[in-house]
Amino acid sequence: MNLTNYHSHTPYCDGRSNIEEFIATALFWGFSSYGVSPHSPIPYTSSCNMLRERVDEYILEMDMLKKKYEGEIEIYTGMEIDYLGKEWNAANSYFQTLPLDYRIASVHFIPNQEGEYHDIDGSASKFVALVDKHYKGDIKYVVETYFENMINMIDLGGFDFVGHPDKVSMNASAYSPTITESKWYKDLIQDYFRFIAHKGAVLEVNTKAYSKSSFLFPNVQHFKTLKELNIPLVVNSDAHVPSLMKSGFKETYALLKEIGFRSTMQLYKGKWIENPF
Ligand SMILES: [Zn+2]
Ligand SMILES: [Zn+2]
Repeated sequence: MNLTNYHSHTPYCDGRSNIEEFIATALFWGFSSYGVSPHSPIPYTSSCNMLRERVDEYILEMDMLKKKYEGEIEIYTGMEIDYLGKEWNAANSYFQTLPLDYRIASVHFIPNQEGEYHDIDGSASKFVALVDKHYKGDIKYVVETYFENMINMIDLGGFDFVGHPDKVSMNASAYSPTITESKWYKDLIQDYFRFIAHKGAVLEVNTKAYSKSSFLFPNVQHFKTLKELNIPLVVNSDAHVPSLMKSGFKETYALLKEIGFRSTMQLYKGKWIENPF
């Protein structure tokens, strides 16, 4: 199996190590290809997102590093693009015309009942306070709006794969511990995966929280559904420091194998191909 990761963050957004440190670690661990994916610019002030004024600099630095490490490792210039409704998403002309190798489509911000967007991807304690303060304590509204936004984003297209497809489940479970066992949640997520399969979208299996909280996104209990629906997967660590770039990979690939998956997707010479494991 070729070792790959296409989801990592550097100081262009909220990551903590520079790009070359990630590449050095990827080389040390024998990765075949490696992708960097800053949080995209958004039309609001956000400490987690990259500034639009720095996008050219990012692309130039990646071009320089691709040349420097040519023949040693394939390096890919990605971006994790926020969905903020019909105007701001991976499919819009700004993101489509950027010279990126691949695009991740993710939801981190959702509108409240008044249409005001807030970041629901922070710590569990921040999330609980946020739901009470800005979403009238209506956790069901938050979860339903998250998946509604995911569906609208996937419907628009313009991306290579979907980032952390049910990430809200972790914070929502901190607010309401049995929420993912409720019938409405189970029905909603089944419909969601069926829609993804119908659209032919590639899903990420995000291992970022696995070492701390044993959460994978999508949650392990959905792996069987993903297999039944034949949804192609990319396993990524969403690392913000190089030491975590393959965190949870061994366990995740073992779980996927148990369910019957035999390959994930990887970039090879700029094209997505199957990577058997
Ligand atoms: Zn993300
Ligand atoms: Zn990320």
